[in-house]
Formats: sequence, structure tokens, C-alpha cells
Amino acid sequence: MKVYKFGGASISTIERIKSTAGIIADHSGDKLLLVVSAMGKTTNALEKVVDAFFDGRQEDALLLFEQVKEAHLNTLKYLTVLRWKETEDQLKDFFTEIEWLLHDKPVRSYDYYYDQVVCCGEMFSSTILSNYLEENKLKVKWLDVRDIIRTDNNFRDAGVDMAFTQKNIREHVAPLFEEYDIVVTQGFVGATDENESTTLGREGSDYSAAIFANLMPAESVTIWKDVEAVMNADPRQFPEAVNIPALSYHEVIEMAYYGAQVIHPKTIKPLQNAQIPLFVKSFLNPELAGTVIDKKGVKNLPPVVVVKANQVLIQFKSKDFSFVEDKPIEQLHHIFRNVKFKPNLTQNTAISLLCCFDDHAEKTDRLALDASLLFDVELEKNLTLLTIRHYDDATVTSLTKDKTIVLEQRTPTTIQLLMR
Ligand code: ASP
Ligand code: MG
Repeated sequence: MKVYKFGGASISTIERIKSTAGIIADHSGDKLLLVVSAMGKTTNALEKVVDAFFDGRQEDALLLFEQVKEAHLNTLKYLTVLRWKETEDQLKDFFTEIEWLLHDKPVRSYDYYYDQVVCCGEMFSSTILSNYLEENKLKVKWLDVRDIIRTDNNFRDAGVDMAFTQKNIREHVAPLFEEYDIVVTQGFVGATDENESTTLGREGSDYSAAIFANLMPAESVTIWKDVEAVMNADPRQFPEAVNIPALSYHEVIEMAYYGAQVIHPKTIKPLQNAQIPLFVKSFLNPELAGTVIDKKGVKNLPPVVVVKANQVLIQFKSKDFSFVEDKPIEQLHHIFRNVKFKPNLTQNTAISLLCCFDDHAEKTDRLALDASLLFDVELEKNLTLLTIRHYDDATVTSLTKDKTIVLEQRTPTTIQLLMR
């Protein structure tokens, strides 16, 4: 049994849904569990619905939701004939659920409403794909992931209860494969013990696929993307970027940690723990080999480059020349946690701590304000954080040309440069 994860781009248009279905049909000799994301940019569109609702702009919220509905109904119309009516009814049940909520006034947290609304993107896309596959004579079962993946109620970044989820998978998912070749479910989404929807963090569908793979267990996971393979840099920034045919779990977890947009960072642990290989393949060119990620990996990797723009460097200086030691550092980390802000890079001096963060204006202001009660705080914005794994002098020189380096950190494998 294999897990295939299809991201939003692979099902963003009618043509792409058709070719994705072709990839699935070609492999239906294997038992497949399909984990799907929301279509195209649906998640972003649903975020706008939640924002409007939570701001008290109810009409806007309903109007924005109407657009999401229309887009899905339109797609459905071009994909199904025999199963069109039934699928439309299924979608309409989901629509009604959300519209009920949008007609209320917000009384709970933003994050709670976010999850109740945003999760429906995956419900819609999986419903359409599943019915389209069925219309094309595949033996498919649609599964509501909220009956399977159990989480805590940390909305928008929910933690998965692996033991409970495993029990659900044993009892409710594994047996489905006796009757069906393909099970279609949703990425990114789970539910609490009170049946409230939760989400696992943006781009969390990769992680969902890894959870299913670990708990089934699956033979392999394939993430179908719009790139040929994992590359050593973002080809939009670096046209000379190259494909990497094989990587170790360790390398990928490091790349994701430093901000490479390859795979959701939480994905690797469940796969590594169960020694399940992960393939990254192109849905545009399924015949290409892509990248395999497993425990072996390869030696002699090219320099792997990750660039994070829009960084802010914050310097926390002790007010009285006392050393910045355990206690003040603990106080600062407490503030970071409160603001939900994690530094990308930190460095100590005797009386100050330097931290670099992704600059989210609101969080930066709150952090600076809270910390200013304890420290003198200085900020510098508009910086770029460059990370190079397996660096060499030539790469470092060429990527730092014309830049001023404000902070540097290096280990034998990784160099990080914060630049102005
Ligand atoms: N649809 C969600 C997002 O766009 C989850 C995912 O695609 O993995 O973040
Ligand atoms: Mg995605």
C-alpha cells in the first residue's frame, strides 16, 4: 500500500485534475491512499472569508465564500456527468455547514473559526476528486479525515494524538482496502475529541501523508509537486539550480528547518521513524525519476541554498551591564513563546542577545514592546538571511557580493549570513 499526496497545484484546474487522475489510474495496481490539499489557492481564499467573518463583516464573508463555492461547482460541472448530481449534493452539505457558522457572530477565538472554515477546502477538493475517479470506474472510497486523525485543540497548529489515530487507522482505514483499491482523504485537517475541526499548520498536507504512512504502515510516500525534483535552490531565484536525485532524511529535515520550501518540516520524522522512503515527483512529468529521500541519501551534495527575505534583527541589551545569562534568556524565550515567534538565528555577546526573525510587523512590535520592559531593544529591518549547506568559498563569495554582512554563523556543514 502506498500513500500519494497531491498538493493544491496538482488539482488547480480541470485539466490538472484530469491528468492527476491519469497518474492515479496508472498506479491503481497498487493499493493507494490519496491525501489531497485544497484546490489551487483555495486555502488563501478561505482565510479571507475567516478574516471578514471575524472582523464582523458578515456580508463580505458570505460573498467571499460564495466565490469559493462557485469555483468548485464550476469545476465539478466539467468533470462529472453521471455522478454530477450526487457530488453536488455532497458539496452542498459542506457549504451549508459553513454558511450556518458565517451567519453567527464570533464568540470564540480567531484560530477556532479559522480551522472550522479553512478545513472545508480539503473537503471540497477530495469530494470532487473522489467522485471523478469513481466516474472513471476506479474503486474508490472517500474518507473524512476528521474521523481518523485525532488532535488536541491547539487550533491552527494542532498536535496529533498518534496512539488514538493509530487505533482509528487500524479499525477504520486498513479494512477499507479489502474492498477498495483507492481511499481518498484530506491533508492538513484533523479533529478534536469533541469533533471540532482542526488544522495542522499551513502546507500541513505533507505531514498528514507521513502520519498515514507511518501508521498504516505504507511501503512509500510520493509527494506530487509542480517541480521536477527537490532542487538545491529555488529556481525562481537561481536559474542555475539543479535537481538532487537522492537525499537523506537528515539532509531534508535540515533543509526544511532552514526554510527551504521543499517539504513541510514535520513530515520527515514519522517517515524516518518507520523507515519509509519518500519520493518527490512531478505531476507534470510523471515519467521523471524525481528525488528519493531515505536513510541512505548521497555524499557530495551541491551547495544547498536557502534565502529568507524580510528578516528583522533584534538586539536585546541588558539595561545595567549585567551578563545575559540563563535567567534573562529564559525570560526572553518566554516572551517569544507568548508572541508565537521563533528566532531563525541567535547569537550571544556578554551583555546582549541578537535574534533574527521573519518580520511580521504586528508580532515584531509586540515582541519589542514586551521585551523593552526588561532590555534595551534595537531593531534593524529589511535584512536577508542566507543559509548555505555544504558551502564552498566560491558560492559564499558570489552570493554575498555587494552585501554587508551583519551576522554570521558557521559549522563545518552550514553557513548562515544575515545581510543588508
Ligand atoms: N491547503 C493547505 C495550505 O495551502 C495545506 C496544504 O496545502 O498542504 O496550506
Ligand atoms: Mg500546498
